[in-house]
Amino acid sequence: MTARVDHAVSSGTFSLDGETFDVDNNIWVIGDDTECVVIDAPHSVSDILAVVGDRKVKAIICTHAHDDHVRVAPALREEVVAPIMLHPDDKVLWELTHTDYLWDLDLADGLAVEVGGTTLQVLHTPGHAPGAVCLYAPDLGCVFTGDTLFNGGPGATGRSYSDSDLIKESIRARLFALPDDTVVHTGHGDDTTIGAEKALLS
Ligand SMILES: [Zn+2]
Repeated sequence: MTARVDHAVSSGTFSLDGETFDVDNNIWVIGDDTECVVIDAPHSVSDILAVVGDRKVKAIICTHAHDDHVRVAPALREEVVAPIMLHPDDKVLWELTHTDYLWDLDLADGLAVEVGGTTLQVLHTPGHAPGAVCLYAPDLGCVFTGDTLFNGGPGATGRSYSDSDLIKESIRARLFALPDDTVVHTGHGDDTTIGAEKALLS
């Protein structure tokens, strides 16, 4: 069985620094017919379960801990009995949303997550958030960038705990090192490719 990428869009809000915005978040599910991992747990458990179907969820991987990416992670964990994975550098953001629950397993640069016969490689890409990570799937020719890289450029760095120099350094050093034809699956909005974004940013 070959691994595949499934996708849905979920609508809700993002709040930070005392402001709240309406946002549409991408839900990414990677796996085969029997098992999968979920990347980000934005607004609605049922939106995520609709993509998962009857497959076993091995992990809930959070690209970072802004509330529009982790809000339903504990509720999803209850439903599917899988560990929540987050880079510990995002503890400060996680605790703005979840004071009663912690995540279960720390993400770290270089960690490999196996699912459905394929591998997701963790790239620590701080900047949008201190613990922001991307998940690179070499077999599938794609990378899941959360809010680090969008179609059109780097993620936002205007709010607390972001760093605009650092996000560009992360993108150049880690994401632009990937093959140009790597498909970029983002946290919000359309796909792009590494080559297209390289042409825009340099
Ligand atoms: Zn974010």
